[in-house]
Amino acid sequence: MAQLICPSCGSEYFLTSKTGPKTIFKVTAEGAVQVIQSPTNSFRDGDIDQHNICCGACSWIGKLDGLAESQRD
Ligand SMILES: [Zn+2]
Repeated sequence: MAQLICPSCGSEYFLTSKTGPKTIFKVTAEGAVQVIQSPTNSFRDGDIDQHNICCGACSWIGKLDGLAESQRD
């Protein structure tokens, strides 16, 4: 399945926050959030602040709709 990636480094993994409890997630090409790991069992997709997400690999912070499309199949 195609994923959206960090426009800076190309990582497929994102965090809800650089500080505090970290939920790790990926985003499909359709913009759907896939939670990979969360510190709380009650986490829901809608809990992600779509205007303030963090790359899991670099210092990029931005909007969900600012992600790049992966060129891989
Ligand atoms: Zn990045």
